[in-house]
Amino acid sequence: MKRFFLTITATIAIVSLVSAQKKINQDSLVKEAAKTELWEPVPAMVSTQKPFADAPSDAIVLMNGKDLNSWHKELDKKAVGWKLDKEGITTVVKGSGNIETNQAFGNCQLHVEWREPSAIAGSSQTRGNSGIFFMGRYELQVLDSYNNPTYVNGQAGSIYKQHIPLVNASKKPGEWQTYDVVFTAPQFYADGNLQTPAYITVFLNGVLVQNHVAIKGHTEWIGTPVYSAHKDKEPLVLQDHGLDGGNPMSYRNIWIREL
Ligand code: MG
Repeated sequence: MKRFFLTITATIAIVSLVSAQKKINQDSLVKEAAKTELWEPVPAMVSTQKPFADAPSDAIVLMNGKDLNSWHKELDKKAVGWKLDKEGITTVVKGSGNIETNQAFGNCQLHVEWREPSAIAGSSQTRGNSGIFFMGRYELQVLDSYNNPTYVNGQAGSIYKQHIPLVNASKKPGEWQTYDVVFTAPQFYADGNLQTPAYITVFLNGVLVQNHVAIKGHTEWIGTPVYSAHKDKEPLVLQDHGLDGGNPMSYRNIWIREL
């Protein structure tokens, strides 16, 4: 009996040690990630009018409100786990993974409508976090940035950890918001070295927030972004930010024009 209790005690001690080690590892990752967070200057808040929405005649409609046939799950290329409802709204299902377009794109004009839930919880980066990854790599951040302080190179309208938005044109949670983007793909020499970086211009709710800024490399949570060569066209990816504290955010009416 005594030996039994000794074994139990030893097991508990090992389990506690392992979870303490996990916590230390997580804490040191968070500390590393904090090195690339900028907290000022805080972009000024700007209110906006109704932005345009209808797809031009030469656009490829990626989210039509009827099906998700233009998309698949990024990880295993299987069916999308996000939920499309009767109103034609697609909502992220936490833990179901990022989704990506079947078609690959390079230079493009993109229109995206997105909405944070009106009953929003959490703070900073765990408040309605998603993202639009151009070429599956370069993230335009999606986040509730209405009265939600976070590092400013990680708020809505930022090129994540690379470019602070010029102003904060965010709407309240529960209201539809729009991104209109002009994206220029990077170019690489035959040996894989960077020839020209990617460039991006972003309007949030009709207000210019990124003016033809050069993207510095693949989006990184930790460390400095760098480029590595990829194809001229790659799929567009929407993020399921698994760490978010339960804020199912939604998308609708996404269209793209190849340039
Ligand atoms: Mg994100």
